[in-house]
Amino acid sequence: MRPQGALDAGMNEKRLEGSPAAVGHWIGGVRVRPAGEQAPVFNPARGVKIRTVGFATEEEVDRAVRVAATAAESWSQVPAQRRARVMFRLKELLEQDKKPLAALISEEHGKTLADAEGEVARGIEVVEFACGAPQLLKGELSDNAASGVDTYSLRQPLGVVAGITPFNFPAMVPLWMFPIAIVCGNSFVLKPSERDPSPALRLAELMQAAGLPDGVLNVVQGDKRAVDALLAHPLVGAVSFVGSTAVARRIQSQAIACGKRVQALGGAKNHAVILPDAPLDSVVEALVGAAYGAAGERCMAISVVVAVGEQTAERLVERLRARLAHLKVGASDVPGVEMGPLVSDAHRRRVREYIEAGAREGAQLVVDGRSAPHSSGEGFFLGPTLFDRVLPHMRIYREEVFGPVLCVVRVSDYAAAVQLVNTHEYANGAAVFTRSGELARRFVQDAEAGMVGVNIAIPVPVAFHSFGGWRNSLFGDHAAYGMEGVRFYTRLKTVTERWPDETPTHADFSMPTTK
Ligand code: NAD
Repeated sequence: MRPQGALDAGMNEKRLEGSPAAVGHWIGGVRVRPAGEQAPVFNPARGVKIRTVGFATEEEVDRAVRVAATAAESWSQVPAQRRARVMFRLKELLEQDKKPLAALISEEHGKTLADAEGEVARGIEVVEFACGAPQLLKGELSDNAASGVDTYSLRQPLGVVAGITPFNFPAMVPLWMFPIAIVCGNSFVLKPSERDPSPALRLAELMQAAGLPDGVLNVVQGDKRAVDALLAHPLVGAVSFVGSTAVARRIQSQAIACGKRVQALGGAKNHAVILPDAPLDSVVEALVGAAYGAAGERCMAISVVVAVGEQTAERLVERLRARLAHLKVGASDVPGVEMGPLVSDAHRRRVREYIEAGAREGAQLVVDGRSAPHSSGEGFFLGPTLFDRVLPHMRIYREEVFGPVLCVVRVSDYAAAVQLVNTHEYANGAAVFTRSGELARRFVQDAEAGMVGVNIAIPVPVAFHSFGGWRNSLFGDHAAYGMEGVRFYTRLKTVTERWPDETPTHADFSMPTTK
C-alpha cells in the first residue's frame, strides 16, 4: 500500500479502484476516460501487468490542445507574481507528497524508493526556480537609447506548449518542463511515457490542488499517434522533447516543418576518464553508483570508463569486480537494495543482446549480469555487467545500451582519453577523476560535452543552471530548465518608443540612426 500524501487521502487509489484500471488523460482539470486503444502497464519488479493505459486519439489530443489554448488566454494575463504563488504552493505539496509519488514511480518504473525520492527532489528544485518568475521575467530598459527615445524588452509566453517525456524519469523530466512553461504564462499539454503513465496524473492533480486554473496543465496518454497529433496541431507553439536520439531527431525535423519552436534532448554515452592519480577506492564507489543506479536507465549514467594507463585499468577493474560481487539487486521497496529491475522484458532482452554482442566482438566479460541470481526469475531483473578491453568499433561502445552494463576502455594517455570523449556520437556528460587541478581544468576546457563533472560522476546541473548535451544528445538551441527554459518558453519583444511634443513634419527616407 502506498503512503498517503498531499492529495486528499486515497484520492488516487479511489480513482484507480478495481485495478487493473485504465490510466487516462487529464483535460480541463478532470480525469478523462481514454477512448483509444489500451496497452498494459507493468510492475517491473514483479513482472506482472498492474493496469492499462489508454492511448489518446487525434480527437482527444485536439480537445486537450483547445482547452489549453483557451486557458492560456486568461493565464497569460495573470501577473507573474501570482503565477509564482501557485509554484510556491506546488513546492509545499510536492514535499508532502514525496513518498507516495516516489512509491508510484517505483511501482511502474522499478527504481529503488530512495532513487525515486531523489528524482522527486530534483524535480522540486525546478519548481523552486520557477518561484522566482517575477525576477526571471523582468525585461531590460535603456532609457534615452537615442535622444528622447527609450528602448525596452519583455518576454511574452508562446501560448500552448507540448511536452513529450521518457519513461526513465516519469516525474522529474515533466517537472523540468511544465513549471517553467506555466510560470512564464503558457499552458501545457504533457504526453508522458506510456510505460509509466501514472505519476504525470498525480502531478496534474497536485497542480490543481496548488491553485492552478483548470486547463492550464493537461495530460494526454499515448504513443507516436498522440505525439504526431501534437506536432501537427496548429495551436501548439512549441515542443519540448526528452527521449532517445532517433525519436528526438525526428521530433525536431517534424516540429520545424510544422513551424514550431523545438528543443529535443536525446540519448547519451557518458564517459568517465580516470587518470592515474585518482583515488580508486572512492572512484569505484562513484562509478558503481553512476553506472548501475536505476539499472543504468539514466541519460547521465556512466556507461564508459576510460582508464588512462594499464596499471590504472588493472587496479580499477579488480576493484569494480569485487564491488559488483556484493551489489544488491532486488525489488525497489526491499531495504538495502541498490539496483532494481529494467523497465520491461523487451528492454531486458535488448540489453542481453548487447551483452552477447560485446562478448562476440571480443570484449572481456568480467562480470556477466545474465547469470546473476535475479536475472531469470519473475521481474525484469538483470545483474550488473562489466566489460573490460572494450574497443571503439564495438557496438557496446558505440550505441546507447541504457542498462546495467559498464565498458572499460584502456588508453595510454590523457590525449587519447579526450579523443574518445570528443569523437563519440553522443555528448551529454563527461567526467574526469584526478587529484590534479591543472589536468582537471584542462579537461573542462577540452571536453566537448554539454555537462562536465570533475570528480563527480553524474554532473546533473542544479535547477538554476541548465541541462543539455551536445552533438546527437540535443537537437535545438536551448537546453532544459534554468534560464534556458525561461528563454525557450518565452519570446522576446523589444519596444522602441518616444513621446514627442509634436509629430515630425517630414518623412525621413534614410535608415534612422542614433541622434
Ligand atoms: P523514447 O524515445 O522511446 O520515448 C520518449 C517519448 O517519445 C515517449 O513519450 C514515447 O511515447 C515517445 N515516442 C516513442 N517513439 C516515438 C515515435 N516514433 N514518434 C513519436 N514519439 C515517440 O525514449 P524512452 O525509452 O522513453 O527513454 C529513454 C531514452 O531517453 C534514452 O535514450 C535516454 O538517454 C533518453 N533520455 C535523455 C535525457 C536527456 O536529458 N538527454 C533524459 C532522459 C532520458
